[in-house]
Amino acid sequence: MAEIALQNVSKSFGAVEVIKDISLKVEQGEFVVFLGPSGSGKSTLLRMIAGLESIDRGKLLIGGRECQDLAPGQRDVAMVFQNYALYPHMTVRENMAFGLRNVGMNEKDIAERVADAGRILEMDALLDRRPSQLSGGQRQRVAIGRAIVKEPAAFLFDEPLSNLDAALRVRTRVELAQLHQRIAATMIYVTHDQTEAMTLADRIVILNDCRIEQIGTPMEVYTYPASRFVAGFVGSPG
Ligand code: ADP
Ligand code: MG
Repeated sequence: MAEIALQNVSKSFGAVEVIKDISLKVEQGEFVVFLGPSGSGKSTLLRMIAGLESIDRGKLLIGGRECQDLAPGQRDVAMVFQNYALYPHMTVRENMAFGLRNVGMNEKDIAERVADAGRILEMDALLDRRPSQLSGGQRQRVAIGRAIVKEPAAFLFDEPLSNLDAALRVRTRVELAQLHQRIAATMIYVTHDQTEAMTLADRIVILNDCRIEQIGTPMEVYTYPASRFVAGFVGSPG
């Protein structure tokens, strides 16, 4: 069973249809990248999975359960935001614990999950700092930590590296790949950067004008682009 399945989903903003009959499956443990130019519908599609945008038509299944009508908190996914969205007045530990307190988890379990996330992200020593005392890369790791503590069925990333400088972007990309290996989690990752897609993805979903142009492994889309658009976008030869 696929971890996440979209079946013929569509969405309009007002009179404009922006997601047009999209179907796709993401398998358990898979790293899937939504790749496409600005305005191609990547964020909208991800937000529909997260529950931050409604689904007008079609079905969303997460772990086999129909979720298209559930509130974001009832879906077993965790979104990592681009702008970190950390609480400045809270420590790293409190930032990670916050979402778990909200759903009523007991303090002992919360402490264990936060400690685990701290170890996974190699942030043990930073748990009592506030966001203002962290570097950009460390803040991004806290944002990922807030998702890790929820132990979700899938992690959803929307251009998580775009606020980082070039060197840090490469380093964080490598860390993300290692994290995916270590926790074997299902991940959906939105980017317009083909290098990120090529290096991170098990499979790439190429979006253009809010439709899927092609789904395939990085090798497949590079070697056998399904259209001129794909060839241009992933930089295929010839
Ligand atoms: P991407 O993330 O690939 O840049 P988006 O999903 O943000 O693309 O946008 C897809 C299309 O939907 C664009 O044409 C965008 O202008 C439109 N759109 C996105 N959000 C809204 C909104 N809240 N209201 C109206 N149109 C929107
Ligand atoms: Mg976007």
